[in-house]
Amino acid sequence: MPSLANKVAVVTGSTSGIGLAYARALAAEGAHVLINGFGDAAAIEAERSKIESDFGVKSVYSPADMSKPAEIAAMVATAERELGSADILINNAGVQFVSPIEEFPVEKWDQIIAINLSSAFHAIRAAVPGMKKRGWGRISNTASAHSLVASPFKSAYVSAKHGIAGLTKTVALELATHKITANCISPGYVWTPLVEKQIPDTMKARGLTKEQVIHDVLLEAQPTKEFVTVEQVAALALFLCSDAAAQITGANISVDGGWTAE
Ligand code: NAD
Repeated sequence: MPSLANKVAVVTGSTSGIGLAYARALAAEGAHVLINGFGDAAAIEAERSKIESDFGVKSVYSPADMSKPAEIAAMVATAERELGSADILINNAGVQFVSPIEEFPVEKWDQIIAINLSSAFHAIRAAVPGMKKRGWGRISNTASAHSLVASPFKSAYVSAKHGIAGLTKTVALELATHKITANCISPGYVWTPLVEKQIPDTMKARGLTKEQVIHDVLLEAQPTKEFVTVEQVAALALFLCSDAAAQITGANISVDGGWTAE
């Protein structure tokens, strides 16, 4: 019997990168999964149906935009209606923008706070009543090493990630007696489209070549000098869903090759 049989997981931002790895890891343990995020419609449908055929679970896709509170609430309702519940919520959708603060576009600030921080508030708010009713829940928020330390030129991202660390602790305390845990997973640099896409702007902001950005900025931060893999991040999410992790709540767990130990 897979460990998450009959559980339903909602994973935001799961059409790519870490989110897709979470969705597949949860499905591999028997959870039905709602996937969400942007991208090519045919590619998303292919990922959704592959989850069903690879793991024998149900999967639905929600196109909800994580900057739109009503769409976030509708996404949770879709999971409850079409898959039966929303027992596991992984708030993971995120975007990055790199710029000196005096040139940081105001609309980029608003967008990053909405997608990387406020969306988690809206999704948790919508999912908690069902979790309380069923007496079980797991909330994991993909934070970042940037929820613990800062880097220059990432003011909105670092602010949102520090914010989600605070939100997670608050929710953990509120739900502590309901058998619902809430934790942050804080990766260092994971090789995904989000990291790849920030290289040109970092080259511009710091006056470096692509190779210099990879070795002198990104991997420089990570004592192991290796990128984290999406599977390593997903394995932690899976552990946090287990009974063994029932007393882990309000924690911010690093998967960062030692970055934040320095
Ligand atoms: P990614 O770009 O591969 O995936 C981001 C996902 O979010 C995609 O599915 C995208 O479609 C979705 N998304 C973006 N805007 C959205 C919106 N408005 N509504 C719905 N979905 C939206 O990036 P990733 O690296 O897998 O990032 C996932 C999470 O991990 C983010 O929260 C990111 O901040 C965090 N993170 C990433 C790294 C890293 O090094 N890659 C490190 C620490 C934390």
